[in-house]
Amino acid sequence: MVKEAAAPSNSSIFSAARAQSSLSSMGNIVVKCPKCKEILYGRDWEKNQKVCSRCSHHFRITARERIQLLVDSNSFEETEASMIPGDPLHFVARPTSMANQPDYVSKLVEERQKTGQNEAVVSGLATIDGQPLALAVMDFHFMGGSMGSVVGEKITRAIELAIERQIPVLVVSTSGGARMQEGIFSLMQMAKTSAALARLGEAGLPYFSLLTDPTTGGVSASFAFLGDVILAEPGALVCFTGPRVIEGFMHIKLPEGTINSNFALEHGMIDAVIHRHELRSTLSRLLTMYTPKVNK
Ligand SMILES: [Zn+2]
Repeated sequence: MVKEAAAPSNSSIFSAARAQSSLSSMGNIVVKCPKCKEILYGRDWEKNQKVCSRCSHHFRITARERIQLLVDSNSFEETEASMIPGDPLHFVARPTSMANQPDYVSKLVEERQKTGQNEAVVSGLATIDGQPLALAVMDFHFMGGSMGSVVGEKITRAIELAIERQIPVLVVSTSGGARMQEGIFSLMQMAKTSAALARLGEAGLPYFSLLTDPTTGGVSASFAFLGDVILAEPGALVCFTGPRVIEGFMHIKLPEGTINSNFALEHGMIDAVIHRHELRSTLSRLLTMYTPKVNK
């Protein structure tokens, strides 16, 4: 259900990136923190890795910004950049419920133009403090980070590449769950990625999972929670079913922060909540700790 396509050429990716960065420098002169309502100067906010300097609220960032934060500069080599999904179900919106929604193919085109990305995950090889790893970083800005066949396939191929090269894997998750426009093909990605991770484990290679806001649905029910070490950003929504759905179904009001990363840590679901400023150094230490085992 995946195909190779006229991927955006490097120039179009970079022009999209340039367009975004010029937008951010023009549009984000000031930013209002959604949590504490503090007005932050755009330049200071970007310098602070898009974390609120007053309340430490971690804003969502794009996959490319995440990669830039985490890995050695110029070390990232992207793989499978040109993979795009098919439309196996010939999905069209039902006129009654989603009258204004475009069909799947048009929606994908729209999302590509908006984000400069081909899909909701960017994968490749990189180093952190000189230590090699394969990584796949999801992007919530592309269709809510929904997991379709290409997202599953790119993550699986990143894991297989790690097995081939005998290096660790890092997956950074952010997702609203499975992609409804691909139906069962989307759900099958849960099994496929989990099976690939089992092969990684059999090869004796470590898998680090980083959960960012929000990590929900089929992603949290598969690869996101299968890490040998599972880290999360502070305040990230981490759950299977989001609070709005629970509240709508159960007719109850959930207490504030019930299903965020701190709650998951307190209940033993994850290993640590790490501030964005500390993520790179934490991953570097983890890679160092696990590397002697890899090299045996
Ligand atoms: Zn704040």
